[in-house]
Amino acid sequence: MNVLIVSNRLPVTTRVDAGGVTVVPSNGGLATGLRGVHERSGGLWIGWPGVPAELPTPIRRAIDQRLAAVGAVGVPLAAREIDAFYQRYSNGVLWPVLHDMLDHPAAEPSDWEAYRTVNERYADVVARRARPDEVVWIHDFHLMLVPRLLRERCPSLRIGFFLHTPFPSIEALATVRHHAALLDGLLGADVVGVHTRAYAARFLDAVRALLGRATSPSDVEDGARRVHVRACPMSVDVSAFEARATEPRVAAMASHMRRDGERLLLGVDRLDYTKGIPARLDAYARLLEREPSLRGRVRLHQLAVPSRESVPAYQALRAEVESTVARINARFGTREWTPIEYRYGCVDDVTLSALYRAADVMLVTPRRDGMNLVAKEFVASRVDGDGVLVLSEHAGAAAELRTALLVDPDDVDGLARSYSAALAMSAPERRVRMRRLRSAVRRHDVFQWAREFLLALGGGGAALVGRS
Ligand code: UDP
Repeated sequence: MNVLIVSNRLPVTTRVDAGGVTVVPSNGGLATGLRGVHERSGGLWIGWPGVPAELPTPIRRAIDQRLAAVGAVGVPLAAREIDAFYQRYSNGVLWPVLHDMLDHPAAEPSDWEAYRTVNERYADVVARRARPDEVVWIHDFHLMLVPRLLRERCPSLRIGFFLHTPFPSIEALATVRHHAALLDGLLGADVVGVHTRAYAARFLDAVRALLGRATSPSDVEDGARRVHVRACPMSVDVSAFEARATEPRVAAMASHMRRDGERLLLGVDRLDYTKGIPARLDAYARLLEREPSLRGRVRLHQLAVPSRESVPAYQALRAEVESTVARINARFGTREWTPIEYRYGCVDDVTLSALYRAADVMLVTPRRDGMNLVAKEFVASRVDGDGVLVLSEHAGAAAELRTALLVDPDDVDGLARSYSAALAMSAPERRVRMRRLRSAVRRHDVFQWAREFLLALGGGGAALVGRS
């Protein structure tokens, strides 16, 4: 069975320079989980190659050829479409709404038009390329109209859609003028997948309340069809994280990161306002205020991965985070000790694994998060069975990782108390909790996620899924 995958970005990085065009596979969570499916099924992966369409024809042809060689088809987006469809409508309007944040900018009609036009283009490209015996698996909030648009073009195609963000409250969704079109767009699929049962229930509630459709506990009526709604929690490549965590160079780097006598708290996030970084930092300051004996004996390492840097809300967040870090370091720091080691940038896989191994306490405190893979990567990396995970109850991962220290990410006092409890936790308790976390993560890795979704969609599963 062929599986045709559709996502906003292709799982490749395209470079155009004096040396010509290169297309290099990238390693995001989606790419890792689906690379095996893509290669084994022989289906195509359709998406934007990451460069604007306004390039000379010979370069565009070269990109198409390189993509074809890796089983990919590019959907061309002009620079102004990238601004309107991707930056302003998808990232500027939909992203905050899907994370239940009500104070988002109102959508400009022209940005909504661009979203529709680009979704139509995706549907056209997929309709031209899909074979009748294939299943089509569409990913994420950039493409919410594509299932319906594709259904109109190919009525008998098997279509699946997976939403990687949370599903929002009805109140938040209703703040978007085109919420009915977005919901109806999803109902063109045969299977709509989300990370948790709570998101599935919210989706069904929204379809009933805002579209007046009949639903059962896991289905929605769509004319003569039924749309199946399914919770499939996404995960990580657990054995790859385990293998890396045991490499000698990772152990060496981790012990270098752990300074003598100092306990390490760790945060690893894209610099996004959904991740709860300001309250996390404030809570650390509260901890140092309340427990002066910890000064000089703990350190917070915060890695902030650059994201959506041209969007004003992200620029404002960066300024807020960096001034908070500076304030806390100025207030509590000494010549020998810096309370927060803040790094704005990306790290390679080995350094990331070393950070996970070095941490005494991992702080994952998003205000809302579809899943949060960092929490699972940390657990997968703790082959030593130690380490404490402080996890927001509003991350999708909290539905599975019940023996983490679960926290309200907006409650600064409560966060500070959890950091204190994590630092004071006895070794036996840490081990019991980590053992349970590890068995939850190992039971359900990223390949299991893909298998489950494809089985629900009728696209086979077991034979297609695994490391490529
Ligand atoms: N990550 C990264 N570069 C880094 C540090 C982390 O690409 O320098 C990865 C991390 O390993 C994880 C992903 O970014 O796989 C973040 O995924 P998550 O689900 O936690 O949050 P998202 O960024 O998707 O909202």
